[in-house]
Amino acid sequence: MYNQFHSVRLDYEKCKGCTNCIKRCPMEAIRVHDGKAQITQERCIDCGECIRVCQNHAKIALTDEMDKLSEYKYRIALPAPSFFGQFKNSENIEDILNSFFHLGFDDVFEVALAAEVVASIVHKYLKAYKRKKPLFSSACPAVLRLMQIKFPELLEQVIPILTPMEVAARMAKEEAQKRTGLSQKDIGAFFISPCPAKVTETKNPISTKQSAVDGVIGANLIYKDIVKHLAKKHHETSPRLNKATSSGIGWGYITGESKSIGYGTSLAVSGIHNVISLLEEVERGELKDVDFMELQACTGGCVGGPLNIQNLFVGRVRLRHLIEKQTNQTSFYTDKELSDIYEKGTFKSTELIQPRPIMTLDNDVSKALEKMERIDQITNNLPGLDCGACGSPSCRALAEDIVRELAFETDCVIKLREKVKMLAEEILDLARIIPPSMSDTSPKKEK
Ligand code: SF4
Ligand code: SF4
Repeated sequence: MYNQFHSVRLDYEKCKGCTNCIKRCPMEAIRVHDGKAQITQERCIDCGECIRVCQNHAKIALTDEMDKLSEYKYRIALPAPSFFGQFKNSENIEDILNSFFHLGFDDVFEVALAAEVVASIVHKYLKAYKRKKPLFSSACPAVLRLMQIKFPELLEQVIPILTPMEVAARMAKEEAQKRTGLSQKDIGAFFISPCPAKVTETKNPISTKQSAVDGVIGANLIYKDIVKHLAKKHHETSPRLNKATSSGIGWGYITGESKSIGYGTSLAVSGIHNVISLLEEVERGELKDVDFMELQACTGGCVGGPLNIQNLFVGRVRLRHLIEKQTNQTSFYTDKELSDIYEKGTFKSTELIQPRPIMTLDNDVSKALEKMERIDQITNNLPGLDCGACGSPSCRALAEDIVRELAFETDCVIKLREKVKMLAEEILDLARIIPPSMSDTSPKKEK
């Protein structure tokens, strides 16, 4: 039985069964039955599209609460690069980082700084790589989960390097351990996340056995408290708390990662539906001349994450503004230190990303082919309106549900109408037939 953790959930009470979400879900993971949406967990990649589209706020992301901090003696906040784009232009990164000390954290480590380390490792990896191209970024877990299900044969082209979030947690904990003398289990690393996909990633990691991140707090949960602190305007600063340069902070929006890596030909695509189209092209054997692909599930990149507060365009402009201020900052790590990190392979993925073949119709190939044929037949017989009134996202999805014995042809309202019409006509025909005992068509007896 499938029992993996998923962050994206349905708030049953709030769901009005409107079918808005079923069309946007890139994995066709949602059905509406009995007036309520249902998420098929096996298919869900936690991309958060349904959270964005639901006007009833019935889709939610399960994240950790602030009281989880009390489980650790020493607590480190790991704000995502996109988090800095959530605040007014007047705020600077140093002030934002400082605010975490007032919310119960003992330390703060920028994921943007880890992103710079990852960029340097990936650059070196791309330079040494001689096999099949293009190579894909491993930074967006929603994209990796999409590839596991829909594009398993492309998984070998994912760069086997841990995400900046994971690297940040490891670096921050090691640094804290040296400074405090505490054991690793007493140190908690908390990622401040723009998305549910990262929550899922820490609970069910796909490139490593166990995540070093101990908790994930939604950017939306902590935002208000930081704003309140920033409003006090008497910020004391710790010496060079902000260590990341514009290169790492740029990872907060699409193209930032490619720029930071700065190697060969790259392509940056955001928005899960665009990512799917692009991967289909790669699957057809195109784009072999591209060295590196930066793929992000959210439109605009992480700044468009569903747990962020700001509209993605506002967030992006603010992030850019902050990046401009950072351009003169020198790199925290020397080239020598970065080369050593690469040589040691410290941040390489330890697990191969495995396919998740949930789209298979049957384990027996001949039965699967038969079922595929039936799906085609049923689809051809359906009206092809893809209206969603049946609760499935498309006529083909309904056909698949029928073959999987999860739905009936009469779930289609047009088919139901046809059936009712046929039935009504049959009843009418029957009504017109007068039994011989009641009719006067029998031969008249001669008087
Ligand atoms: S999170 Fe994404 S994949 Fe999962 S149900 Fe929502 S839209 Fe579908
Ligand atoms: S693009 Fe960023 S915010 Fe969106 S799902 Fe991927 S990692 Fe999360």
